[in-house]
Amino acid sequence: MSRFAIGIDLGGTQVRAALVDEHGKIHQRLEERTDAEAGPDRVLGQIAGLTERLRSACGPADVAGLGVSAPGPLDTELGIALDIPTLRGFSDYPLREELQKRLRLPVSLENDGIAAAIGEWQFGAGLGLRNLVYVTVSTGIGGGVIADGRVLRGRKGMAGHVGHMSIVPDGLMCSCGARGCFEAYASGTAFTRRARMRIAACEETSLAKIGDALDSRSVFAAAENGDPVAQALVAEEAAILGRGFTSLIHIFSPEIVIMGGGLSQQFDRLQAGIQSHVERCAMPAFRDVRVVPAALGQNSGVVGAAALALLLQPSAVAL
Ligand SMILES: [Zn+2]
Repeated sequence: MSRFAIGIDLGGTQVRAALVDEHGKIHQRLEERTDAEAGPDRVLGQIAGLTERLRSACGPADVAGLGVSAPGPLDTELGIALDIPTLRGFSDYPLREELQKRLRLPVSLENDGIAAAIGEWQFGAGLGLRNLVYVTVSTGIGGGVIADGRVLRGRKGMAGHVGHMSIVPDGLMCSCGARGCFEAYASGTAFTRRARMRIAACEETSLAKIGDALDSRSVFAAAENGDPVAQALVAEEAAILGRGFTSLIHIFSPEIVIMGGGLSQQFDRLQAGIQSHVERCAMPAFRDVRVVPAALGQNSGVVGAAALALLLQPSAVAL
């Protein structure tokens, strides 16, 4: 009989939950809109409700534990949410202890970028590798690193906040309060902001007709239809991603860089630009490192969180 774990991916807009077996297969998946303004009690109630529904699907005794991926920074050694900007009330909040009390299950807690890296490493694009960097490019940018066959966690378990490496001195303001971060230039939010600036600069572009509905998908679609301004925006995005990924390649020497998050749905349109930046700008010995899309799509986090609960049992390998 299979062993199961429940993975939770707690985000600022959605909370996703999945019943996952030891081979990384999702048996059932649920999601609902996060009640982000309502405070921890309500959000933990949402997690508990989803967990109970999944537990009843397989028999409570078969569930090894609960793995929770949440936006950082989290001190995963102490199990505390230090400050989650997108969720009200999660400042210095003992998330792991409160969940264990409610659910009477072992709970593992992980920063979301690291959880997604674990998902891709154990069951996705990084299967069998000893060194990889995972980068999620979405509203913000996060990441996680597998180095020498182990999860790189760093002090307090907070390693891998790759979105906040500085790429431009005194550059654009980032959501973290600093200036010039990779996230402020390469996230999906930054990409659409640049598109709006081009439109406002009265450049001749079909994007001007879209108005408030403009999002990253509309820019990619316009580029596909031959709009030169949209094509330039896509090329620029690929170059900025390539620049950040090249730094990560130099620092961690991964076998691959895995790109996940919302923007990775357009990976085919970004790949050539990203890869050519790596081939031009990395030191020669690093130029053969490939950038690939996440194999688990938006499930990397939920599967990684479940993997933690399955594999972090005392007798299992140390992730
Ligand atoms: Zn930042």
